[in-house]
Amino acid sequence: MVGEKALFGMGVEELRAVVEGLGLQKYRAVQLGDALYKQRVERLEEVTTLPAEVRERLAAEGYRMGLPEIVQTAKSVDGTERYLMRMADGETVETVWMPGGDGGERGDGSEAASEEEGEAGDAEDAVETHISKARCGAPVSSQNKYGDSGTSSQNDERDLGGYKRATICVSSQVGCAVNCQFCLTAKLGIRRNLTAGEIAGQVAAVLNRQRVRIGSGKGVETPSRINLVFMGMGEPFLNYDAFMKAVHVLRGMGIPESRMTVSTSGILPGILQFANEPVRPKLALSLNASNDAVRREIMPITKKWDIAALLEAVREIPFGKREYVTFEYVLLGGVNDQPEHAREVLVLLQGMKAKVNLIVWNPGPGIEFHQPTPEDVAVFHRMLIDGGIPTFTRRPRGRDIYAACGQLKRTVEPGFVEIQPVG
Ligand code: SAH
Ligand code: SF4
Repeated sequence: MVGEKALFGMGVEELRAVVEGLGLQKYRAVQLGDALYKQRVERLEEVTTLPAEVRERLAAEGYRMGLPEIVQTAKSVDGTERYLMRMADGETVETVWMPGGDGGERGDGSEAASEEEGEAGDAEDAVETHISKARCGAPVSSQNKYGDSGTSSQNDERDLGGYKRATICVSSQVGCAVNCQFCLTAKLGIRRNLTAGEIAGQVAAVLNRQRVRIGSGKGVETPSRINLVFMGMGEPFLNYDAFMKAVHVLRGMGIPESRMTVSTSGILPGILQFANEPVRPKLALSLNASNDAVRREIMPITKKWDIAALLEAVREIPFGKREYVTFEYVLLGGVNDQPEHAREVLVLLQGMKAKVNLIVWNPGPGIEFHQPTPEDVAVFHRMLIDGGIPTFTRRPRGRDIYAACGQLKRTVEPGFVEIQPVG
């Protein structure tokens, strides 16, 4: 099995079994856990709390720390960084670092939201932000190939010192089977699931690269407020167990679940299981259409689970007092962005503790949709607000380097095997 000798991703019990299997005392498991999740040590040889002999024995048994390796990076004009992460078997996924966040947390009642709102202003600002960006045009440069982001120290200082919080967008699968028509990741098909260690390991690798300290753990920069969104490549709820295990590992690294958001395209069994989790991140559902007919066209998975079934399942989740469920809605010009669609969304979400994140569609090669006009976005946004739904338009991050929502696509694709899409 892939990654079976990777220590990163193992829980307390598993680590204990490893050390006991080598005839070592239990407290060695605690030391190993601290090295993995608090100090985020990348190489077994560097775990200095363990005697050299123990390290050598672990290595001889085939164990390694097992963090994904950052093999390529790209940096956006807006500070966003996109990383190509290589797993032990050579498979790669992408992970995105967004200093300052992307506005996705606003209005969901969480701590992250209050910080974001305090800094970014209200919904009106969100509209303005979007419109001015859209008018400037997202610069899609011809240099959006991976290049090392080892930029000048001046840039690094500004980026590291200037942010108060950052969001990391994490992948859950190599590729995706869901086949949404507007998404670049869908073009890859699915290669395999990531393990819990590979999911959480992306976060550890990024935090190490950015030298972020969490609690008393490793790092030299200011303690930072890190938010995680499971919105990278893949469908987390089609890799449910590994995803949930990763959530626990990440908590062990000092990131509370209240700072994590998982986005699903609407995998009904996953939503039902998620509803019963004692510890769960915040939920975002990619609604993306106001009726089944349009949704079937752009998200064929709707044929399996329709909007009514998904909303019924979401309504059953025992949300906390201040908790809102987020509905993501990618605006596709002329397809789902007209006033009649906004009216239908209002009817669908009536009576729910819901907020809507509007995402202006990010283009990609070979995908035949159009961006909505800034006017249509503004009208759509205003109609939802007037209908009583807290609505935010996401700041597009890293579009110039293909790091924005739905733009994640491995650059290394030879031998990629497409399997039958779901739905
Ligand atoms: N698979 C999960 C999470 C990853 S996609 C899901 O679909 O929810 C994260 C978000 O990006 C989803 O809301 C998805 O609808 C959106 N998205 C996909 N492609 C996009 C694109 N080209 N432009 C803007 N948003 C996109
Ligand atoms: Fe997969 Fe999400 Fe892209 Fe749909 S939008 S293809 S579910 S990654």
